Amino acid sequence: MSTVYLNGKYLPDDQALVNVLDRGFVFGDGVYEVIPVYFGQPFRLPQHLDRLNNSLTAIRMRDPLSAAQWAELLANLIRFNPAAGDQSVYVQITRGPAKRDHAIPKETKPTLFAMCNPITPPDPATLTLGVSVVTLEDIRWKYCHIKAITLLPNVLLRADAGERGAVDAILLRDGVVTEGTASNVFVWNDGRLSTPPKSSYLLPGITRDLVLEIAQQHGVSACEQDVTESDLSAADEIWLTSSTKEILPVTQLNGRPVGAGVPGDRWRTMLAWYQDYKRGLRGSCPS
Ligand code: PMP
Repeated sequence: MSTVYLNGKYLPDDQALVNVLDRGFVFGDGVYEVIPVYFGQPFRLPQHLDRLNNSLTAIRMRDPLSAAQWAELLANLIRFNPAAGDQSVYVQITRGPAKRDHAIPKETKPTLFAMCNPITPPDPATLTLGVSVVTLEDIRWKYCHIKAITLLPNVLLRADAGERGAVDAILLRDGVVTEGTASNVFVWNDGRLSTPPKSSYLLPGITRDLVLEIAQQHGVSACEQDVTESDLSAADEIWLTSSTKEILPVTQLNGRPVGAGVPGDRWRTMLAWYQDYKRGLRGSCPS
């Protein structure tokens, strides 16, 4: 059993109960964040809190906690849930309980929930063979920059990918790549690394930004530009990035090999740089 945080209390998960009238339960009216924890320390916390703030503002809510209060909450939760390996903290804020009505109530008390989950490293087969994806039409709404808890389209798209024998889907809007069902997309084409520019059609991934930052640090020019369906088909390498999966090599696209059909050298190099970056932070973390 794990200890979770709910509305100011740290509780065993089976004792953390939410009112059924909560607008998160009834309308999916809420937002969330997933923050990796390496060496016991939240990773890129300011960036995650910024994005949380942007999501809250977009749904007309105010951040109920200051950055210092969030840091304290996370530190407590991590202390109550010691883990042998890496973990992540899931944070969810909903508009809280209210009489069911589409109109946003004037006064509600937001529901704040947070829990720890282990981050399981990718199995060796994934790292040696890569993953297979299919392209699917992006059926989601037009506010994908908001990290909303309403993930039913993403869940159905993932199921669709699974039924087509793939691990995940890369989503297309009018022939242009947006993102994965829970990740951002990078492609290598003609010696150039690119990723779709930020827009309301995709989540501004924290890992995406870090990969761009690391690329720049190592003199790899990377551009934020539209990636078309044909760019994808012609790609030498395709990567999926997210906080919990880090950087995954895509080796099959719609049943065809990507590049040589095995994880590419550039992916291997970027993953090594990414791990170096994480290890570099360890020195600055209190033990
Ligand atoms: N896009 C979507 C739809 C996601 O759910 C995620 C993972 N939360 C990402 C991109 C990657 O974001 P991050 O790197 O911040 O985990």
